[in-house]
Amino acid sequence: MPESTKKCPACGGEVRGRADKKYCDEYCRNVFHNQQYCETHEYVRNINQNLRKNRKILERLLLNHRFMTRAPQYRLFSMGFRFQYFTHTYTNRNGQLYYFCYEYGYLLLDKERVLIVKKQPSAEKYPALIR
Ligand SMILES: [Zn+2]
Repeated sequence: MPESTKKCPACGGEVRGRADKKYCDEYCRNVFHNQQYCETHEYVRNINQNLRKNRKILERLLLNHRFMTRAPQYRLFSMGFRFQYFTHTYTNRNGQLYYFCYEYGYLLLDKERVLIVKKQPSAEKYPALIR
């Protein structure tokens, strides 16, 4: 087999040996894999934290209400809500799109307010837009 002149993805050094050899040695292979794992793990953990925080905020705002309430968007912002993070969406019969963070969700009512809901046993019960 021809000698390889590839670069090691862990240390940037030249990889000597068989053509299919990717790293200098076991050490570099481990370093590279651990680093990749950490970056992925960090990214996923960060998103999960945002989702859980969003969920907590919706839960807190819905406290003392049966299963829905209206709230001004600035209130959510001021509590640290990040609108770009949600777990799933639900579109009701009227074509209105709810964003969920686990079992809590919201519907944008207008530029200033949201309707906050909690997951219902029957999805049919999500209310139509109420102004
Ligand atoms: Zn190396």
